[in-house]
Amino acid sequence: MPGNSHPPILPADDSAIARAAAVLRAGGLVAVPTETVYGLAARADSEAAVARIYAAKGRPDFNPLIVHVPGVTAGERLARFDERALALAAAFWPGALTMVLPRRTDAALAPAVTAGLPTVALRCPAHPAMRALLAATDLPLAAPSANRSGGVSPSQAGHVASSLGNKVDLILDGGACERGIESTIVALRDGGGWQVLRPGPVTEAAISAILGPAHDGMAEDRGIEAPGQLASHYAPGKPVRLNALTAQPDEFHIGFGAVPGDISLSSGGDLAEAAARLYTCLHAAAAAPQPRVAIAPVPEEDIGAAINDRLRRAAA
Ligand code: AMP
Ligand code: MG
Repeated sequence: MPGNSHPPILPADDSAIARAAAVLRAGGLVAVPTETVYGLAARADSEAAVARIYAAKGRPDFNPLIVHVPGVTAGERLARFDERALALAAAFWPGALTMVLPRRTDAALAPAVTAGLPTVALRCPAHPAMRALLAATDLPLAAPSANRSGGVSPSQAGHVASSLGNKVDLILDGGACERGIESTIVALRDGGGWQVLRPGPVTEAAISAILGPAHDGMAEDRGIEAPGQLASHYAPGKPVRLNALTAQPDEFHIGFGAVPGDISLSSGGDLAEAAARLYTCLHAAAAAPQPRVAIAPVPEEDIGAAINDRLRRAAA
């Protein structure tokens, strides 16, 4: 296969899941649809397999990975769940919430997964393809977004093929991702504090409704724990201007609601649709002939907070 081509892209049916599970058991990389974005999965207990994720993405090794588990029981083999973690899991798992919890010292996890941190980020995904892979492998699967580090995240199988090509062994195609934006990451601190490290589909208000108000005075001292905290991320490779009601002739315009643009996040002004279409629109902007990108304002409410977080970093 020539170096610039891509690996097999298979519809995520039973036979493709079985083949993907074999690839993963052997230490390979599989791109898999989830309800958030496409993930780049490897077995989380193998240092060599996890190293391949970092190499394929060009991801800095200080940036830890999310580990996917089929439920709380599997999660409790890797991390300590206190009553807050159990309450959040009951409310939001399976789903788009990642919890940063104290790593168990006897957890069967490659050290690179957590980048040497005493914590581990766990998520129980809802997408049937990812759940089928977890069941078929009976392994925790490390899976960051299936794109080159710092680039636009993939919400379709074709995005993975064009970003990673043959660096991945197999791509499972489940169509467009339903949520389209990465999971919310919440860190539960010893002593009762908690903090949203990356906004996402599960809002801070929804978490507060279960845990009470966020309070964590130590946030500044902890350094970067999530790439959501890196200033530049999700970048389409050209300058991005935000809050643009109109565009210049050399700008590809992404619209929202009443602002039509060359393409729209959601012409009806629906924030869930805008989240689901966000990365498709950024990929279209990257591929457009215009050298610059302008993006219409998006309201900061509900999942709009997560959309604006990604847009600010795409513009940085
Ligand atoms: P992604 O490439 O979008 O899957 O990124 C995974 C996210 O999880 C990044 O924001 C990581 O920094 C974050 N993450 C993973 N493990 C931890 C951890 N132990 N503590 C804090 N953040 C973590
Ligand atoms: Mg990512």
